[in-house]
Amino acid sequence: MTLDPRLLDLLCCPAEENGAPCHGELTERADGLLCGKCARLYPVEDGIPVMLADHAKKVDA
Ligand SMILES: [Zn+2]
Repeated sequence: MTLDPRLLDLLCCPAEENGAPCHGELTERADGLLCGKCARLYPVEDGIPVMLADHAKKVDA
C-alpha cells in the first residue's frame, strides 16, 4: 500500500500533547502512518488514512 506523496504532504498529526496540537510530520510505514513527534501510529484502512487520535496507538520509537 502506497499513499500519494502529495496527500502525505498535506497530512499532519491531529493529536494533542499536553493541550497543544502536535502537528508532527507523518511517515508512511507498512502498518500505517507514524508521527515522528509523538510516536502515534495512525491506521490506513482501504487506502484511507484514519487521522483520529482516538484510533492511533502509541508505538515505541
Ligand atoms: Zn503527533
